[in-house]
Amino acid sequence: MSKNKILIAGNWKMNKTSAEAKALVSEIVAVCGSTTSVDVAVCPPFTALSAAAESLKGTNVLLGAQNVYVKESGAYTGEISASMLKEVGCSCVILGHSERRQYFGESDAFINEKTKVAQAAGLLPIVCVGETLSEREAGKMMEVVTTQTVGALAGVTDAANLVIAYEPVWAIGTGKTATPAMAQEVHAAIRALLVKQFGEAGSKVRILYGGSMNPANASELLDEKDIDGGLIGGAALKSATFLDLVKIACSKERGGHKCCCSCQ
Ligand code: PEP
Repeated sequence: MSKNKILIAGNWKMNKTSAEAKALVSEIVAVCGSTTSVDVAVCPPFTALSAAAESLKGTNVLLGAQNVYVKESGAYTGEISASMLKEVGCSCVILGHSERRQYFGESDAFINEKTKVAQAAGLLPIVCVGETLSEREAGKMMEVVTTQTVGALAGVTDAANLVIAYEPVWAIGTGKTATPAMAQEVHAAIRALLVKQFGEAGSKVRILYGGSMNPANASELLDEKDIDGGLIGGAALKSATFLDLVKIACSKERGGHKCCCSCQ
């Protein structure tokens, strides 16, 4: 079966002011703004979404946020609703990132609620799962990833608007990447869960790999059967490395041929 269309999504985390976001987005769209070979998304912090949206206007690059709250409006100081994200131009949202699980105590049940709220609002959720080093060393990797995936997707019926990101926590921001075989093993397990829940539609849900993905390791990761793209942290903060990743993805999609835009 042919692979799913590659998605390269940049998770900027708590980096970039509005002015910096504008500059970075302008550099990205100048090169791959019109690509149709792959899907490209940038996810700046909330304060830079508006500036990024300006620079993304009329391009094919998607805008995403890094979190959303489950309520629509009201007395929830510090939170942002799905319709606020839509209004500013977001079409996707990262949910359940390990940093949110670790520092902000997000549970699978809360991530599940957010996933449903995002889908209902027409936002594409990018749901993150992944084990810590100690969980992997204790042989609990599959159990953890299964619990997180099943928990985040409980009651979710819309497979068409869903992306999963497998991000082994020990590989995030550490320079340590899962080998393609290690990543594929977990991606295949997630794929099986998706097919169990959604039937054939589960095979169309993109599963991204995240964890120190960079231009040196992306090609072989993207060659794996169930790796449909990357959620990129550090390498998304510079246009040169992010665009190199887009180019690698483009050339995979086009069987080694030049991209449809000016990225190659
Ligand atoms: C991330 O935080 O989503 C991530 C993958 O970060 P990095 O690429 O820096 O490991």
